[in-house]
Amino acid sequence: MTLGDKVAPPGGTLGILGGGQLGRMLAIAAARLGLKAHIYAPPGDNPAFEVAASHTTASYTDADALSAFAQTCDVVTLEFENLPLTALEICSGHAPVRPGARALAVTQDRVEEKRFLREAGVDTVDFWAISELLALPEALSDLGGRGILKTRRFGYDGKGQARINDPSEIDAAWSDLNGAPAILEAFAPFTRELSVIVARGLGGEIVCFDPAENRHDQGILRVSRVPGDISQAGAAQAVAIARRIVEALDYIGVMGVEFFELEGGALLVNELAPRVHNSGHWTIEACVVDQFEQHVRAVCGWPLGEPARHSAAEMSNLLGDEVNAWRDLASDPRAAVHLYGKAEARPGRKMGHVTRLLRG
Ligand code: AMP
Repeated sequence: MTLGDKVAPPGGTLGILGGGQLGRMLAIAAARLGLKAHIYAPPGDNPAFEVAASHTTASYTDADALSAFAQTCDVVTLEFENLPLTALEICSGHAPVRPGARALAVTQDRVEEKRFLREAGVDTVDFWAISELLALPEALSDLGGRGILKTRRFGYDGKGQARINDPSEIDAAWSDLNGAPAILEAFAPFTRELSVIVARGLGGEIVCFDPAENRHDQGILRVSRVPGDISQAGAAQAVAIARRIVEALDYIGVMGVEFFELEGGALLVNELAPRVHNSGHWTIEACVVDQFEQHVRAVCGWPLGEPARHSAAEMSNLLGDEVNAWRDLASDPRAAVHLYGKAEARPGRKMGHVTRLLRG
């Protein structure tokens, strides 16, 4: 058997690069399946450590620590995409890394991601790669005078983004991004935002959870609702696009695919997350097998679980000091409260979430 076919059986060890809340929920799912999680993360507030069988604290550029970590693992996965590709390469000398370096390389860079999507026949907003301030006026006028300038890499939760509504705002937007290589995206006049959590297993089998309708505020997800206000045709189209993307990438694991829905129902893909995704947290309560278990199953080479939803659900993030309402939230008999155990409630920081099962 080659590393490529390797399965992690019960009792085996799943290595997870990244120590945040997604790693924490993955480790909990792994434990439920009799697997041990080994978390690898740099020093800092790493809530995943508290629930894992073991952890390594070291930088993503420490080759010795990465090798030693991967040697303890049957399979290595990630909960965070902004990793150096060399970290994956080092781990893959010792254990299969799923999803692999190609998926990470494509999704780490907003320009590469959009080029890949277009080649795969998937629609996106129009965009320009911008490497210098001088290129911005022409790109902006090509995109109709309005756009969103984003760093190509390392953006999350609306960070590294500046809206430009008028050419007079170009200089300010460019300096907001500190001259980092950027993408200028056309502004999508969306009527709603949706996402699909898709999983592809080791044998190429694909399953999707129902699309969620998402509401963001200042680039940060606030609420996901399922089924939301999504037509059957829209849901089928979103699922078909998500399947096409994971196939084109030969992807293994769970991926979050975010969409803009335009007037008339056309869908554009906004962004791919090569990991479990915040807009899939509702699956913990509303599905037999949730996105975290599904990811563990996929990367460990297990059969995938049934993604069907048994309830409607609404998931709300607890940002910053909203987490202080934990006692009131916990006294709501229909609310499932998840707290991530983070030490400091900085504004906008994801501290936990609450899912309510709805009738229908
Ligand atoms: P992102 O980090 O790129 O997913 O952006 C976060 C949020 O900002 C999205 O979920 C949208 O609400 C908004 N946004 C990002 N890009 C665009 C765009 N090109 N047009 C309109 N809204 C956008």
